[in-house]
Amino acid sequence: MDFALSKEQLMIQQMVREFAQNEIEPIVAEYEAEGRFPEEIIKRLGEIGILGMTVPKELGGGGCDTVSYTLAIEEISRACASTGIAVSVNNSLACFPLLTFGTDEQKAEFLTPIANGSSLGAFGLTEPSAGSDAAMQQTVAVKDGDDYVINGIKHFITNATVAEVYIVFAMEDKSKGTRGITTFILKKGDPGFTFGTIEDKLGIRASIQAELVFENCRIPASRMLGQSGKGFKIAMMTLDVGRIGVASQALGIAQASLDRSIQFANEREQFGKPIGRLGAIQEAVANMATDIEAARMLVRYAAWCKDSGKPFSKEAAMAKLFASEMAMASATKAIQIHGGYGYIKDYPVERYFRDAKITEIYEGTSEIQRLVIALNVLSGK
Ligand SMILES: Cc1cc2nc3c(=O)[nH]c(=O)nc-3n(C[C@H](O)[C@H](O)[C@H](O)COP(=O)(O)OP(=O)(O)OC[C@H]3O[C@@H](n4cnc5c(N)ncnc54)[C@H](O)[C@@H]3O)c2cc1C
Repeated sequence: MDFALSKEQLMIQQMVREFAQNEIEPIVAEYEAEGRFPEEIIKRLGEIGILGMTVPKELGGGGCDTVSYTLAIEEISRACASTGIAVSVNNSLACFPLLTFGTDEQKAEFLTPIANGSSLGAFGLTEPSAGSDAAMQQTVAVKDGDDYVINGIKHFITNATVAEVYIVFAMEDKSKGTRGITTFILKKGDPGFTFGTIEDKLGIRASIQAELVFENCRIPASRMLGQSGKGFKIAMMTLDVGRIGVASQALGIAQASLDRSIQFANEREQFGKPIGRLGAIQEAVANMATDIEAARMLVRYAAWCKDSGKPFSKEAAMAKLFASEMAMASATKAIQIHGGYGYIKDYPVERYFRDAKITEIYEGTSEIQRLVIALNVLSGK
């Protein structure tokens, strides 16, 4: 059993850590306060190969493994969880399905630009009536000659207005249930494709979520991704990969919560000594550090399973479930360790608390992760 990171993985971790500390950390408070998408940062991350990390180099990506990807998302999210999710969605939810199910023409036209950082991708599965129950797709795709005509609304879609490429799921044949769902590649500017409500949120305020609105949106049939009726399977496989990204994001938020707690516990004095010398604070910090390390093992194991060609659906769900709930608990403890200072905006821990919550919700809530895990373990997997 080898727990050591390879030379290349360590290099990527170091490079992204330095980038996050030097280029993201100084501006994050301002961007979060203003709810401003960090366009320039995303562009720079594209230039250093972080937007399509596991896409082969010849297709414009970084040619890295999934473990390296988890290291990058953790480091980015340690500085800014909003940037973390924008990058995770692009890598996992947009690049992965294009790489895995796209034709050579689709890869050249749609994958390469979002992998090399020229543009961004988004993933449109959720609808007002189809959240956890993603099979209840109301968006419809009707074949009309050599085209498909799409009607419907996707909501809460990350990167919506700043993306150029969209992986969209639509019902082609309702009578077939999940086997009636098909995946399509949409482009910004497709006729009949507009944006609706842009969401105002509790946390990850510098990331963008909006509605995708399709009104008689006509696209060529060549924009179908994978086969007709295989959309639900593509969505579930893609979310397995996405969960490794969200788990890494949660890990970054938790690590930031611990970093700030250690700094504060060493500096803040009460009763004539740093609060870090008080047993209660030591216990909180020790539990946080241990839980973070446990989550890190689960995240890296899920990524290693994927890199090794092993099944990783259960492992990704476990990593996401544990890391996200751990992040929420760590951010809560970080506020407690900071006392009143934790509650005010002069310290970043209140942001970690607001940001951590979403990791328990998107790409499958904690309840849905438990469902995935239970179905796996009850069937002996
Ligand atoms: C900031 C943000 C970004 C997002 N980004 C994207 C994106 O890029 N693309 C995209 O497609 N979607 C995105 N989503 C949607 C997100 O994945 C869904 O919100 C999430 O899957 C939950 O769906 P829902 O909100 O409809 O809640 P619901 O499914 O209505 O769930 C409500 C509650 O019921 C529980 N519940 C539901 N079913 C079960 C069950 N079977 N067993 C036990 N409990 C259950 C849930 O766990 C939850 O507690 C985003 C959401 C947010 C808020």
